[in-house]
Amino acid sequence: MSNLLERLRRRGWRMTAQRRVVAEVLSGEHIHLTADEVLARATARLPEISRATVYNTLGELVSLGEVLEVSSVGRAKRYDPNAHESHQHLVCSGCGAVRDVRPEGDPLTGLADTDRFGFTVTAVEVTYRGLCPECAEDPEHA
Ligand SMILES: [Zn+2]
Ligand SMILES: [Zn+2]
Repeated sequence: MSNLLERLRRRGWRMTAQRRVVAEVLSGEHIHLTADEVLARATARLPEISRATVYNTLGELVSLGEVLEVSSVGRAKRYDPNAHESHQHLVCSGCGAVRDVRPEGDPLTGLADTDRFGFTVTAVEVTYRGLCPECAEDPEHA
């Protein structure tokens, strides 16, 4: 699994200090951050980074196809660097933790013709919800 920063370097993305910090914040596995979370983490590393730069860089990474916008996870749109591997999401209703998961079979083919209403269906997003082990043990969520 290649990380976002390496992929961007390989494709010759123009790397400034500010853009690099955004890519670093989004590098790793199971990363699903809102724009505000990206901004907060980027600011922690590079205090002078501007909100506009963070938002513009996010938009650019999405249009490059290197970061996915996930709208089905939680309320705010989240940015997911796992853009080249088909996956779905497992979300904790307690703390909001998000895991990348790979269900067996192709969920696209699970939709019968009669349920397609004549649509040409090209993508599917499945969100599994539940409680993570920590939240399951917390009496507050029981
Ligand atoms: Zn949880
Ligand atoms: Zn994901």
